[in-house]
Amino acid sequence: MSHAVLPPSSAEQWVNCPGWVEMTTWYPEDEDSEAAMIGTAVHELGAFYIDYDNAVANASNGVIYTDEMLECGQLYSGYCLGLIGQYPRSAYAIERHVSMDNTVHPNNAGTPDFAMVDRETRTIHIVDYKNGRGIVEAYQNWQLLDYLFGVAEAHNLTVAELWGHEWLINLTIIQPRAFSGDGVIRTWVVPTRMIEVYADRLRTSALEALSGNAMCHAGEHCRYCNALHACPTALQTGMLLFDVAGRATPVELSAHAMGLQYEIIKQAVKTLTALEASYEAQLSAKLRSGTNIPGWSIEGKVGNLEWDAPLEEIFAFGEYMGIELRKTPEAITPSQAKDKGIDAETLKEYASRKSKGFKLTKFDSSRISRIFN
Ligand code: SF4
Repeated sequence: MSHAVLPPSSAEQWVNCPGWVEMTTWYPEDEDSEAAMIGTAVHELGAFYIDYDNAVANASNGVIYTDEMLECGQLYSGYCLGLIGQYPRSAYAIERHVSMDNTVHPNNAGTPDFAMVDRETRTIHIVDYKNGRGIVEAYQNWQLLDYLFGVAEAHNLTVAELWGHEWLINLTIIQPRAFSGDGVIRTWVVPTRMIEVYADRLRTSALEALSGNAMCHAGEHCRYCNALHACPTALQTGMLLFDVAGRATPVELSAHAMGLQYEIIKQAVKTLTALEASYEAQLSAKLRSGTNIPGWSIEGKVGNLEWDAPLEEIFAFGEYMGIELRKTPEAITPSQAKDKGIDAETLKEYASRKSKGFKLTKFDSSRISRIFN
């Protein structure tokens, strides 16, 4: 099934950045990437578990299931099966297409992983499985909110009905491979008084995104945008680093998760530094060859002021002016003295290593095997 122009899976982008629709016509999602194939395979596995409560060896796209994938699929299906058991008279659907024609826009449609509507208790559950490691919150998740209106339409429930009768609406993200202070299953109960506000925001964003003159707005939502590498707005703002760094502060992480997070941030800094150098080199070359780049120009670099005359002449000039232009004599370093023949023991009486605080280093587990082998 082809994607809608406004897919719920990218609602985070088109709600926050109306220019996303146009940008991604140039840079569509790569559905054949390894990560996308594995994600599809685990979704399929979870759906299969819910329906048949057993597993298969490989997915229809050829991905062979690993133990980790089986565990992830079981976690997701186990949660959904729990809901089905809890609401035995509910209507539930696994990966059933819904459209948000009336509430949001005729070009807005998609397929929730799991949706359940129980009229008896006026309860809705919408569950989305995420296989990636980048944390996706359930709170104010636009993808899930968008699905909510599609599921409501499929059950002939209007927005007014949802808030008027105070439905209990649960939006859940299941993300077994991402560390979060809130665990791997995160549910947000939508305050019903806000339902109309969320519907309105989706509707106005959809209209703006398809208006033909939508603007790009960079932010945290850029992280999963296919156009990130080529988007002038996002690159200008440098949001990737901001996003990764911002993730590190507020959550209560285990020491292990904190170590992993620190590594991710270090990697992000390295990536940004590399991106900066790459763009600097490309832009400089273009400017030198005469290309006009709005907001940028090229200037020659100037070093520190240096003497041009020979040293004797400089010193003589200093004496004439009554100013000492010679440097105070400096000792060579202890290491250089050692190289010149002073033995290490004698050197200890005159030199030592001063503490400069602590440095975080990555533990190399291969050191242990090297010591004992
Ligand atoms: S990278 Fe960000 S600003 Fe650029 S199109 Fe994507 S979502 Fe919009």
